Amino acid sequence: MLHYQENVSLLPYNSFGIDVRTRQFVEVQNLADLKTVLAAHRHHAFRVLGGGSNMLLTKDYEGLTVQLNLKGIEVIQETEQEVWVEAQAGENWHFFVLWCLEQNYGGVENLALIPGSVGAAPIQNIGAYGVELEAVVQQCNTLEVATLEAVTFQRDKCAFGYRESIFKNQEKGTFIITSVVFKLQKAPHQTHKEYGALKTLFGDKNPSIQEVAQAVINIRQSKLPDPKYIGNSGSFFKNPIIAEDQFKRLQKNFPQLPFYPNATGYYKIPAAWLIDTLGFKGYREGDAGVHENQALVLVNHGKASGSEILTLSKKIQNAVQEKFEISLETEVNIL
Ligand SMILES: Cc1cc2nc3c(=O)[nH]c(=O)nc-3n(C[C@H](O)[C@H](O)[C@H](O)COP(=O)(O)OP(=O)(O)OC[C@H]3O[C@@H](n4cnc5c(N)ncnc54)[C@H](O)[C@@H]3O)c2cc1C
Repeated sequence: MLHYQENVSLLPYNSFGIDVRTRQFVEVQNLADLKTVLAAHRHHAFRVLGGGSNMLLTKDYEGLTVQLNLKGIEVIQETEQEVWVEAQAGENWHFFVLWCLEQNYGGVENLALIPGSVGAAPIQNIGAYGVELEAVVQQCNTLEVATLEAVTFQRDKCAFGYRESIFKNQEKGTFIITSVVFKLQKAPHQTHKEYGALKTLFGDKNPSIQEVAQAVINIRQSKLPDPKYIGNSGSFFKNPIIAEDQFKRLQKNFPQLPFYPNATGYYKIPAAWLIDTLGFKGYREGDAGVHENQALVLVNHGKASGSEILTLSKKIQNAVQEKFEISLETEVNIL
């Protein structure tokens, strides 16, 4: 039974801990209910909520917030080496990773402890410790909002990029991801341990997927603020990617500038370094702040409003633009 609630606070539903309200709220547990809700509301304002860990809510919402709670994880095909697993959109991402580790299926271990839902994971092609989701996605199953038809996107149609996908850009709001099919590896696994801290930890060793996941969990717990204690949405900004001529100019002025060249001749610059260099680490305006150890993470020290955090983020963007002539894009969805 669908239970519509009126005038609901979204405080418990977003990791930034912002207290705004939605005019209506409904939780859906299955595809049939999702279709019923969409059939009644697709011509009115509505939006989908997963774990609320990648959004900054800046004002009350005059529409319907639909929390996707579709559950289930199922093996749909396997060979001796590989397995195809379908996970429903409302499954918690980290729970799904733990499930894979229990079955000894490899591929998602570097993505352990990322908050949020399975259904939102492809939206920004979640990534951490040298692995991005696109490496393991086989297909995204969706519901087209306008027609209520099921539409499947094979991986090569998802336009995955760095914290990007077709669902965050060209087709934003057109499709709701209802489940994701992952192609995972059975043992023996090939683990990814090239990334900084993992490389230092494992060196030439050949860790199991469980050991990699545990290492990732330990590193994340020691470095990243837990939204249970301090509101945040992880990295607030994307790392900018700049062309070679701009990079050369910058490097001349800032010889310490860290950089990662990519295969297409562009350079990825750590946004955290830019923000830190400007002295923003630990900076605070009321309850809106920059984390004291992670310059890329904006935090809510208590009762900050979404617009206060947004104002701070714009101040940082302007300062970065002025000093480095780099336009910082937000990774978090501003709503
Ligand atoms: C402490 C912390 C650490 C983090 N670390 C990382 C990290 O290492 N790497 C990384 O990539 N991200 C990271 N994130 C960001 C976040 O966890 C991911 O982006 C995650 O995938 C968001 O999932 P969610 O369910 O919470 O999405 P939500 O915040 O609920 O939604 C995000 C957007 O997707 C839309 N959406 C949600 N579900 C669906 C769906 N099923 N179909 C269509 N649209 C949908 C929403 O409308 C919204 O626009 C971190 C966040 C926090 C708080």
